[in-house]
Amino acid sequence: MSPYIDIHTHRLGTPCDDTISVYSLRLGKENPDDIPRPMWAGVHPWDCDTVGLEAIGRLSDMAIDGIGEIGLDRTRGDLALQRLFLDGQLAVAAERDMPVALHAVRTSEEVIAAVRKSGVDRGRVTLHGFAGGKELAARYLGEGYMLSVGWRTLASQRGREAVASIPDGRLFAETDTEGDIREVYGGIAAVRGCGVEELRDMIYDTYRRLFGRLSNIDV
Ligand SMILES: [Zn+2]
Repeated sequence: MSPYIDIHTHRLGTPCDDTISVYSLRLGKENPDDIPRPMWAGVHPWDCDTVGLEAIGRLSDMAIDGIGEIGLDRTRGDLALQRLFLDGQLAVAAERDMPVALHAVRTSEEVIAAVRKSGVDRGRVTLHGFAGGKELAARYLGEGYMLSVGWRTLASQRGREAVASIPDGRLFAETDTEGDIREVYGGIAAVRGCGVEELRDMIYDTYRRLFGRLSNIDV
């Protein structure tokens, strides 16, 4: 049976045979040596005020599997400064030809424009913690992105309608900072009217497509 994929987590759980968790490292705040791969790393938009821009240089040769979470958050901190970090980190992702995980809060158009300008492969971009409705989902899907959903997405009717609208192959599940990935899968399967096993196969395929080119990932 395919493993569960937790595409975005900030928690180091107990290693578990049936789950692959992709840790999201807050660069400049956490030590990558302590974290098992697979791993995203990036300066989180909330950390831009306290982490120096020179941190971006470290991404160029860090042993990681993708760049993230990076992005813009209108509800926290200085947006212009966040934009500098975002552009710099997208440039590294383009240079290293790596997947990207985005954090976008009330900044969807700004983030979409930044990704377009960067030359990053838009088919390997995941919008993490997707929390909009069907229209916003369609906007991101039109850009080629994948959408990652968690409990916050499933908690509202609007979010559940969006989850039902995401095509196979473009969907991920995540715990972010709380909850159990099995429960997120159960919620998604109920909304989409499919079985959990089928969902596990589908998301695992998507995961392999996203990371499969990287030789260090055992897929
Ligand atoms: Zn996160």
